[in-house]
Amino acid sequence: MDQPAITTIRRALRVLRSERRRGCEDTAAPNGIEQLLRHVAGVLGSASIPDRARDAIRRLERDARGYADLPPRRRRPLITRGIQLLEAIAPPSAQPERPAAPGREPDAPPSALTWEDPVTELSGVGPARAEALKRLGIRTVGDLLLHCPVRYEDRRQVLTLRQLKHGQSAVVRAKVRRKGRRSSPRRGAAAIIPVSSGGAQGELLFFGQPWWARQLEVGEELIVVGTARIERGEVSIVVSECERVDGDGPDPAGVIVPVYASTEGISQRMVRKWARQALERCRMPDDPLPGRIVERRNLMALAEAIREVHLPANLPRQRAARHRLAYQELFALQLALAMRRSEVCRPDERSSLAVEGLAEELACTLPFQPTGAQERVMEEVLRDLAAPEPAHRLIHGEVGSGKTVVAALAMAAAARAGRQAAMMAPTEVLAEQHRESLGELLGPLGIEVVLLTAGMDAEARAAAELAVARGEVACVVGTHALFSDRIEFADLAVAVVDEQHRFGVRQRARLSDKGARPNVFVMSATPIPRTLALAVYGDFDVSVIDELPPGRKRPETRLLPDDERDRAWEFVRERVAEGRQAYVVCPAIDASEEMTTAAATFGELQDGALSGLRLGLVHGRLAPDERHAIMERFRVGQIDVLVATSLIEVGVNVPNATTIVILDAERFGLAQLHQLRGRVARASWQPHCLLVSGTSSAEALERLAVLTSTADGFEIAEQDLLRRGPGELDGVRQSGLPEMRIASILADTAALTEAREDAFAIIERDPALQDPEHRPLRDLVEQARGGNLWTL
Ligand code: ADP
Ligand code: MG
Repeated sequence: MDQPAITTIRRALRVLRSERRRGCEDTAAPNGIEQLLRHVAGVLGSASIPDRARDAIRRLERDARGYADLPPRRRRPLITRGIQLLEAIAPPSAQPERPAAPGREPDAPPSALTWEDPVTELSGVGPARAEALKRLGIRTVGDLLLHCPVRYEDRRQVLTLRQLKHGQSAVVRAKVRRKGRRSSPRRGAAAIIPVSSGGAQGELLFFGQPWWARQLEVGEELIVVGTARIERGEVSIVVSECERVDGDGPDPAGVIVPVYASTEGISQRMVRKWARQALERCRMPDDPLPGRIVERRNLMALAEAIREVHLPANLPRQRAARHRLAYQELFALQLALAMRRSEVCRPDERSSLAVEGLAEELACTLPFQPTGAQERVMEEVLRDLAAPEPAHRLIHGEVGSGKTVVAALAMAAAARAGRQAAMMAPTEVLAEQHRESLGELLGPLGIEVVLLTAGMDAEARAAAELAVARGEVACVVGTHALFSDRIEFADLAVAVVDEQHRFGVRQRARLSDKGARPNVFVMSATPIPRTLALAVYGDFDVSVIDELPPGRKRPETRLLPDDERDRAWEFVRERVAEGRQAYVVCPAIDASEEMTTAAATFGELQDGALSGLRLGLVHGRLAPDERHAIMERFRVGQIDVLVATSLIEVGVNVPNATTIVILDAERFGLAQLHQLRGRVARASWQPHCLLVSGTSSAEALERLAVLTSTADGFEIAEQDLLRRGPGELDGVRQSGLPEMRIASILADTAALTEAREDAFAIIERDPALQDPEHRPLRDLVEQARGGNLWTL
């Protein structure tokens, strides 16, 4: 039997035994017993085991379907059957390593723990603490072992009171000299403990923690971490952490002590103890990385790394340990991307389109001369279309850089080949707008573009659906409606997704399902840092339109305090007097609030600061045709000022609108604000962006100030990433990026680059991971796809 099969059996045995021990409540396997057995049956399906055994496993798998809903009395026999079966198949070394004491269950506590065991298996963790740990994302022993310290305290150098200097932070060994007392309330609630150390005397001060006064007994030896104060020869220490030297666990002095992210009800001391206990009792997972990589990249072994992050021998080893874990996390992610890429880009003769002469034809009818960047990207797109592999390309370009014409080119190629193209937009407004601009670009070539959205009236929609299904229309623009199962394409050859960040990976996949394997182009204006792009879009080729059409100006951006918002209205009046138009954007948390704040602002402005101007209001609750009518009136200049919610964020194109006022600006993300101000940079007039904010938070103001100081979308994205973390960024939250526990997209650039290189190289040589050494990687990929980088 091969190693992966053996590993699978061993792992499954551990889980099944723990399931039985815990009363068969479907709590031992992270994804449930049913899932576990399916996995086992899958792996053993192709392993070299007797056919009889294989059949038995299959039967077991079938019987265990719906395990979670079976009555408990039917569960136990199933588990026992599973254990017996796997024990019979497994080679002897897969049996429990410790011989069982007679009369005792083979794995009665304090037994070896498995990675998947819940934390309650640790001694000292009951239901309440398990609940608290859950708040830290820790449910299993494995979670705890991957709960990496946020920093370390070096206690190898322990001082005495005599050695301290004023203001020094240090680790000090001291002995309680007299019973402590609480400070007078005037000094704040604190405990004051007289101590001696190295022949000198002094005091420990516990601010905000008066209870220490009662807890420490005379004569107790302590290790404290804190800051020294020396006033008139009196030494005291403002304590931040205190541990007893009491023989319970290793001496807290003389080691590098981990400091964990913690939460209410859980002390550092507890987490340290549990982590130590888990390290001692938990059987470490097998190392999934191929030896070649471990060697070439000089990585620490997995088990060793897990140990060293919690109990580092020294700081270089701690760094190497953390690097190893970060590498593995990023590697799992990149491997999943590499595999997806090799799947979507498998050669397929149907994906290749004839493109000769197409660019020239389009150029003849374009109302403008494409920029150098547009031309370069169009060439890349044409190369993709002609190639035998389906295209899988991200087209990145700031708002206004002219992505639509690139999409038009790809869609025209499909139409010319007598096949179909679809473009997907995130909102109805944008879909309508795209239909219009694509119509203008493709109309002269004799290509019709139809609209298909959920908001259309039923009859028109049904007609469009039918035309698409029969292949009567070549180009269709729509919203999510295009994903719906009702829509069949006769022959989809090109799929374009605009403003990608609004679509999740899953929706993207559904779109691809619509054609056999269409050429996919994703267009995004969300600037995202390079490293993040490698994580989120790592399976795409990337084109960047890094040039704006000539004559465009960067929006001049100013920050106005809320009580000066009248100056914004004055400014808008001046611009309107010059013949320009303006947007006023209100933030919204949900659809209902969206409507009310925008409507209230509209009313206020109409009767007040902007009375006499022609105002319009759009928000998400308007019926599509109403909204369309208002947008149209704004486009042709019958409305001077459009009050809107962030609905207009993406794609709206009205070159004469040169001013945007954004209210409560602190409620938007930086990248989003940057997108919004891109709305007004569509023509050669000087554009203006006024950010109005009533916030007094220095942090928020500093964040907004980034926008006034730079126009570089990538720099803004980096700033956003720094301030909010990747999970909060547009384009990441919905992208399906699995949660990273160890790696930081910003800090681990080197690990990311290496992991990517290695992962892609492996998939190139062994696309289906058939090499025996690569088998464990299949699991890694499968789990990464399920959003978990660490089910080992
Ligand atoms: P994006 O989708 O990248 O935000 P669009 O494709 O909507 O940008 O283009 C923005 C505006 O710029 C449109 O009005 C478009 O007609 C115009 N445009 C695009 N390319 C050029 C160009 N090379 N020269 C002049 N105008 C252009
Ligand atoms: Mg666009």
